[in-house]
Formats: sequence, C-alpha cells, structure tokens
Amino acid sequence: MSFDSSKLFQTYQSHRDIKQYLDTLLQQHSSKIEVFSRAESYEEREILTVRICHDVREQKRPNRWCILIDAGIHAREWITVSVALFIVRQLIEKDEISAKSFRSFEWIILPLLNPDGYEYSREHNKMWRKTRRPLGPRHRRSCVGVDCNRNFNVAWTIGSARFCSLLYRGERPFSERETKNVRDLFRKLRPACKFYLSLHSYAKAILYPRAYTRTLPRNWQMQHTIAEAGVEAMKKATGVRYRCGSASTVLNRPVGGSSIDYAHDIEKVPVALVMEVASKGFHPPEANIERICEESWIGIGAMVNCLASSFRSVLKGSATLAAPAQPNRPQCSLRSTSSASRGWVRFFVSARKISTRSSLAGSPTYRILSNRPGRSTAGSTMSGRLVAAIRNTPLRSSMPSISVSSWLTTRVPALPSTVSERFGQSESNSSKNMTQGAELRAR
Ligand SMILES: [Zn+2]
Repeated sequence: MSFDSSKLFQTYQSHRDIKQYLDTLLQQHSSKIEVFSRAESYEEREILTVRICHDVREQKRPNRWCILIDAGIHAREWITVSVALFIVRQLIEKDEISAKSFRSFEWIILPLLNPDGYEYSREHNKMWRKTRRPLGPRHRRSCVGVDCNRNFNVAWTIGSARFCSLLYRGERPFSERETKNVRDLFRKLRPACKFYLSLHSYAKAILYPRAYTRTLPRNWQMQHTIAEAGVEAMKKATGVRYRCGSASTVLNRPVGGSSIDYAHDIEKVPVALVMEVASKGFHPPEANIERICEESWIGIGAMVNCLASSFRSVLKGSATLAAPAQPNRPQCSLRSTSSASRGWVRFFVSARKISTRSSLAGSPTYRILSNRPGRSTAGSTMSGRLVAAIRNTPLRSSMPSISVSSWLTTRVPALPSTVSERFGQSESNSSKNMTQGAELRAR
C-alpha cells in the first residue's frame, strides 16, 4: 500500500508511517534514494537512514561530500521529525537534489534518531525526552532512558549521573544503541562528511561547537558565517529572527556529551550545527507544521548553498579540521583601518575588529585579517607583533558577540610600503573574510 504524501505535513507521523512513506519513495524514485537501517532501538524499532543523491546506484563516487542530518534525538521535539521528512520530500519529490549546489552532496538523513522515545512521547508522555532503556539493577528499575545528546564521548563526564534526571548522560559514552548508530555512521562516512546538522526545537537558534566550553573551534568563523547565512535567509523569507553563536554562549551553560562537539572534535566534521527550530513549544499545532518546515528548509538550503559556494576549499582539502582547543586564546577577526609608523601602533581590539590608529597622519593603510597567528612569524613581523599582542591581551571574552574590549599599544618594526604576507593555514581566496592565516597588505 502506498502512502498518501499529501497529508504528510498535516499531522505528526508515527514511526510506522514514516517507514511506509520512505518505502513509497523508494518504489517511485529508486535512482535517487536508498533507505536502510543499520541498527535497532532498545525496543527493536528500526532506526531508519535515508541516503539521497542524484545517482544513488552509482557505486564509485569521487569527490562526493556528505551532509548528515538527524532529527528526533530528543523524543518530544516532534517538529524536527517533520522537518527531516520535509527535507527528504523536497530533495526527492520536488527534485531539489538536482539543484547545482545540492547535487555535489550525498545527503544522509536520520529522520527519527530515537524512535522509542518518540513513540512513547506520542502515546504516553508528550514531554518525554530520553531513550526508553530501563536503568539500574534488574530488581529495582525505577527510571528509564538516557539523554542521547549527553551520551557522546566529548566532555561526557560533565553530564548528569542521576538515572532519573531528564539529562541523564548514561552509564558510559555510547551506552545507547541510538547514539552508537550515529557514531558508526560518522565512522563510515569519514572523511567525506563535511556538514552535520542536528535538528532540535524550539529555541530559535543555530548553534555551532563547542557546547561544553566557551573555547571556540579554530574554524568558528566559517561555521558562524554558514549559520548566519541560514539565519538571514529565514529572516528575509518570513521575518523570523534566529540567534546564532556557539552553543555554550547562546545557551549560557556548558553541555557535555553533545553530538555536535563529537562530530566536530572527534570526527573532524568541519561544520557541525544544531538548528533549534522555531516553533511554539515542542508540539506546535498541526496546522503550523508545513509552514515551520518550509521556513526551516529555507534556512537549511541557504546554509548548504553557503558551504558549497564559499568554502569549496574546505570541502576539497584536508583543511577540514580543528586543532585541539587552546584555552584563553582570543580568536579574532581583525581588520585594521589605518596604520603604524615609527614602530608604534595603537589599535583597538575586539572579538571581531581591530582598527589600528597611527600616531602620525598620512601613513599607509593596512588591512589585517586574521584568525590565528602563524607560528613562524609571530613576533617577528608587523602582523606577528599585532597578533602576539592580541594574544596576550585579556579580552573579556573570545565570543563573537562581544564588540568592545580594549585599546592596545605595541611596538612594531618599520614597515615596508607594500607588504603582503600570509601565514598559518589559509583556506583560499574565496573565503575572503574567513582567512585562517593572517594577512597584512598595504592598500
Ligand atoms: Zn533538543
């Protein structure tokens, strides 16, 4: 029996309906979609995985990058499951997989990561969040379930160790079949997975790592740019205002064992985002499902477009990955507007900006773009000195939302009239304002 997809977004779908819908798609569009299940949940439901690309039967896939999207990691966040199905529908039934920037990816979608929790939430307790595995010794099992988004092995220890907590981290990392399944998928996709998106609701935000600490990943600017592209597109389309920033900043608390930190820090996925879908509560009225899905898809599409158009070097190269965290190092996007002379520069530092002020008028203007200081040149050149000085400045925060920090004065060597240098690991010319090295150029 085939599934009537016209009603798909008029109501919330059960695990069974979802399977039926995917089977129908498989029959009708077998060249573009594959549906499989690599694991079962504790209550033995298939954890369905959808693989979509424009030539799914083609086995050899050079230069094909992966996007991994999951939904329903938290059982009560019903709307995220609908959003994931909407993505599948758009790519397959509306053939958006053929769009230029989408077709370079293989889309791997887990529309329902935690099926047991979701069904329990539908049938018994709408606010259920965790998995459904009974905990504790067999004779006195009073509490059930683990919070999947505390069960990954990054800073896992800071999660709650109480069985009955809503945020219980599990007896050990990957204690749940559901999270193990995600881990195995990541391992299988290595190193092709370039974008991980975990759908949650309903905080109206797009978040990037890290969740467990305020120390940002080295490529945070790139992730911020991609998240912002989604925020802007949705704002333009519907007026909705999402926030964006690192998860620990926006949520204002550290979260251990999260899937985005795992994806980014362990699996080296360059872009790992949480989208907290905007909705009224965890179970918005069914009449709103389609509208929310459409809005979310606009944001997701814009993020993928941004990744595909502005960061191709990240997709292609080994420049995928984050260095280990370096605590207390301010990570800045620097931009100077005027320059130095007689060896002294006074400049203004913020998490986003630096403008140098010259003590003499009429000296050349320099522009500095930097996220990280280069090892070999730090301290020995103008930009090296600036960056070194910034590193030693106690900024109030390294978060991008801080706009003002302090003035600095530092001594620099005499400058040639034209300087163009680059150091550190730079991405490419296409990622203009995201250069990961430092650049100092007379203009
Ligand atoms: Zn959630």
